[in-house]
Amino acid sequence: MQITALSKWIPNLKRPLIISGPCSAESEEQMLTTARELVQIEDVRIFRAGIWKPRTRPGSFEGNGEKALPWLEKVKKETGLLTSCEVANAQHVELALKYNVDVLWIGARTSANPFAVQEIADALKGTNIPVMVKNPINADLALWIGAIERMSQAGITKLAAIHRGFSTYEKIKYRNNPIWKIPIELKQRMPELPIICDPSHIAGRRNLVAELCQKAMDLDMDGLMIESHINPKEAWSDAAQQVTPEYLAGLLKGLSLRSEFSPNRTFDAELEELRGQIDRVDTEIIESLKSRMDIVEKIGLKKALNKVTPLQMKRMDELMDKRQASAEALGLDTNYIKELYKLVHVESIRKQTHIMNDFKEQEDK
Ligand code: PEP
Ligand code: MN
Repeated sequence: MQITALSKWIPNLKRPLIISGPCSAESEEQMLTTARELVQIEDVRIFRAGIWKPRTRPGSFEGNGEKALPWLEKVKKETGLLTSCEVANAQHVELALKYNVDVLWIGARTSANPFAVQEIADALKGTNIPVMVKNPINADLALWIGAIERMSQAGITKLAAIHRGFSTYEKIKYRNNPIWKIPIELKQRMPELPIICDPSHIAGRRNLVAELCQKAMDLDMDGLMIESHINPKEAWSDAAQQVTPEYLAGLLKGLSLRSEFSPNRTFDAELEELRGQIDRVDTEIIESLKSRMDIVEKIGLKKALNKVTPLQMKRMDELMDKRQASAEALGLDTNYIKELYKLVHVESIRKQTHIMNDFKEQEDK
């Protein structure tokens, strides 16, 4: 897949690329006042605003549509910022191109739908306009990659992925679950593809945005898309998560960026990978403990039938000696294994005692 580096389509780019602007384009005045403040923040290079809004329920504000596109053009003309908006179908693409929007993005609900993504890809053929592909709302890396591939096959090389978290039915701290291992795996599969984090849609609440920005930087992501509004509380969509341009400036100052060659640069990603390995080993340990317990139960039943006590000291001493010897051979601390096997053994005895009591009750009936 051919991917043009961010620095080739954003002049004088400094890491991280900052994309900011309101969730929705509400009015010309709101757009321009927000943009005038944002352009004062050196790192902000792209102004975002939703022109068409995919809302969960009908009756919410669904965007101003075409009427708002000249506002975006005005922002560009007055501030020099690049502009961007979401497109969800061929007609959106056509209009965004007509009004000279610089960068398009595909929203999370659209990325989940290959028909819509293909329709957009077909409408984009021959343009090579930059396109950022948000992850689909469901945690499906293949679907995310598929949407990126559809853009690529339409001849788009100025590509980026946006990580905005995944929809979840569980009650969690965030509006959308970040599941960081998914963008990390995307990076491993497509090392050239820039990844931008959208902490606003992950967080859902403005007080969580800063910590997510830091996390994204620690994972070496290339940029941040942060929703900002001149008066967030009064925003027509996503009021709880938008921040003022002033707050954004402070947040960006507070970020600690690891330099390109610091050994910590990929620390979090590596940690995440190793923890994944630990999770897999632990699953195996628990499965083995379950297999062990199944055998213990079989023995329990045989002991009950033969009127033998659950605890047999000789067997226990032998077992402990053998396990400690195995541990020693592998370079593990023998005391650690001894303590562990005391727990394992006590639980086995408890289980067998239980089986025997049940057995006796049945016999007495
Ligand atoms: C947005 O960026 O305003 C938006 C609708 O985001 P998402 O597609 O991530 O929900
Ligand atoms: Mn939004």
